[in-house]
Amino acid sequence: MARKLFIAGNWKMNLSVETATALAAELAARVSADSSVDIALCPPFVYIAAVRRALDGSVIATGAQDVYHESQGAFTGQISPGMLLDIGCEYVIIGHSERRHTITPPEDDCIINRKLLAALGSGLKVILCVGETLDQRQQDQTESVLDKQLTDGLANLASPSAATLVIAYEPVWAIGTGQTATTAQAQEAHAFIRSRLAELLNPDVASAVRIQYGGSVKPDNALDLLSQPDVDGALVGGASLKAADFLAIIDAGRTITSSAQ
Ligand code: PEP
Repeated sequence: MARKLFIAGNWKMNLSVETATALAAELAARVSADSSVDIALCPPFVYIAAVRRALDGSVIATGAQDVYHESQGAFTGQISPGMLLDIGCEYVIIGHSERRHTITPPEDDCIINRKLLAALGSGLKVILCVGETLDQRQQDQTESVLDKQLTDGLANLASPSAATLVIAYEPVWAIGTGQTATTAQAQEAHAFIRSRLAELLNPDVASAVRIQYGGSVKPDNALDLLSQPDVDGALVGGASLKAADFLAIIDAGRTITSSAQ
């Protein structure tokens, strides 16, 4: 089945209102109206509305980097799915490795599952991040780690609600390190994820769900990674902060899409 490639930029905790809107405006001006590849930017919460305005009229969507699972109330400091939709957000990243491993207290699959169900239930499109640490890979635990993150992260998800789901395979050892998974490692993990989705959801949903690769995606490796049959896009951190690099990764996606037609 032909899946539309999806390139998303995760800006993490970077930029200012001025530099964020300038980067969004530059991308909006330089990304053509060609919608053969889906594109999204995920700025810090406080810049989403300004970035959304800077992107108006372009094909680029906005996303958030996290969300809370309750819809409203006494949850100081939290942001609900409805609030994200209210400011024009279409996507939300859930379970990023920095939330699972770097930020304390770490998020576990149970809280990730609550966020995912709340976000999908409200109409947000979820990018669920999964991936193993270097230790886990070296101990040959990659598939068991991915299996647990998918089984627990997608618990109680009814197949019809998974129609807009995106999975990002992000090996923790490749994020922000400059060390990219080989195309064979990425394809193997993506194929495993798709086979588990077929069992956890159903085969039709599994073949429609887009699985992005994330972990030091750069202009010089994007074409090879995106050419893999089960790699349906990229979640890009560092390189999404530079307009030229992010545009080159989008162009790699468009090249693959046009050569497949
Ligand atoms: C990420 O933030 O999800 C990511 C993959 O970062 P980087 O591209 O910098 O490795």
